[in-house]
Amino acid sequence: MYDVLIVGAGPAGLTAAIYCGRKKLKTLVVSLDVGGQINLTPKMENYPGYEEVNGIDLARIAEKQARKFGAEITSSKVTSVKKIKNGFEALTSTGQKLQAKAVILAFGRLPQTLNIPGEEKYLGKGVHTCVTCDAPMYNKRTAAVIGGGNAAVDGALELVRIGANKVYLIHRREEFRADAATLAKARKEKKIEMFTNLLPVEVKGTRFVESLLLENKTSEERFELKLNGIFIEIGSIVDTSCVRDLVKLNEKKEIIIDSLCRTSQEGVFAAGEVSSMPYKQAVISAGEGAKAALSAYQYLTGGKGVMLDWK
Ligand SMILES: Cc1cc2nc3c(=O)[nH]c(=O)nc-3n(C[C@H](O)[C@H](O)[C@H](O)COP(=O)(O)OP(=O)(O)OC[C@H]3O[C@@H](n4cnc5c(N)ncnc54)[C@H](O)[C@@H]3O)c2cc1C
Repeated sequence: MYDVLIVGAGPAGLTAAIYCGRKKLKTLVVSLDVGGQINLTPKMENYPGYEEVNGIDLARIAEKQARKFGAEITSSKVTSVKKIKNGFEALTSTGQKLQAKAVILAFGRLPQTLNIPGEEKYLGKGVHTCVTCDAPMYNKRTAAVIGGGNAAVDGALELVRIGANKVYLIHRREEFRADAATLAKARKEKKIEMFTNLLPVEVKGTRFVESLLLENKTSEERFELKLNGIFIEIGSIVDTSCVRDLVKLNEKKEIIIDSLCRTSQEGVFAAGEVSSMPYKQAVISAGEGAKAALSAYQYLTGGKGVMLDWK
C-alpha cells in the first residue's frame, strides 16, 4: 500500500508528487501521459522563473524532480477509485489494483475541439485553445476566435488589447451566449468583426496557419478568411466518471474542493483543472498540487492544523 496515489501527471500531479516525495511519503503517480496539457504548448511565457519555456521541457524537468524525491510514475488510465477499509483502491484500464492511504485527483481536462481537417496539424502552429496563454503572439496580426460564450468574446477583446490588427469572432448559432456587457464591449470595438451562423470547415496553411474555410449554415455558401491564428474557445471537457461515487461534483462535473484542496471524501484531495477552482493555468494547477500534497501530509500524519470543517 502506498501512502499517496496521485492520478494525473500534468502540472498539478507532478507538483504534488514533488511535495509528497520531499515529505518522504511513499508515492505513486498513475497517468495517461507525463506533462498533460502543457505538452501542447511549445512556448509558455507566464510560468514564473522562465522568461520562455517549452511545455514539454518543463514537464520533463518536473518529472525528473518528482522521481529524484522518490515518487514512482506509472503509465495507465484510472477507471475507478473507491474507498476500502484502510484507504482507497484505484482500478486501471490495464487491470491493476492500486491501493493508497490517501489519493490526490489531478487528472485535468481536455479542451473541446472542432474536429475539422487541419485543426490537429496546426495545433501550436496557429491553432490555439487558450487565449490567455497564446494571445501575445498576435500583436499586429490577424486572428479568429471560435465560440459564442464569454470565454470567446473576452478572448477577442483580449486579442485587441494585446495589439491584434483584426479579430474575427465566429459563432455557429444565431446569437452569442456571452453576457450583455461583454458583448456590448465587443460590438463597440472596431477591430472585432462578429459573425453568426458560420461553421468552421477547414484550417489551411503551409508551415503555419494561413486561412480558415467557413460555411454559412443556411445558404451553405463557403468562403475563406485570411488570418494568422485561430483560437478555439468552445469549452473544455472534464471526465470525472471514475470518481462520481467517491466525491461531490459541481454542475460542470468538476470535483468540488475547499481552499485546502480537500474534497467531500476525507483522505481524497483534488488539484488543478479537474477541480472546481475557476482559473485554468499551469502555475495555478502547480500551486494547487502543492497544496493538495501538504493537505494529504496533514491528513496522513493526523495533524489538524488550521483546517476548517468541510461544509
Ligand atoms: C494549447 C494549450 C496551451 C496552453 N498554454 C498555457 C500557457 O502558456 N500558460 C499556462 O499557464 N497554461 C497554459 N495552458 C493551460 C495549462 O496547460 C493547464 O492549465 C495545465 O496543464 C493544467 O494542469 P493540470 O495538471 O491541472 O491538468 P492537465 O495538464 O490536464 O493534466 C492532467 C493529467 O492527467 C492525465 N489523465 C487524465 N485522465 C486520466 C485518467 N483517467 N487516468 C490517469 N491519468 C489521467 C493526463 O494524461 C494528464 O497527464 C495551455 C493549455 C493548452 C491546451
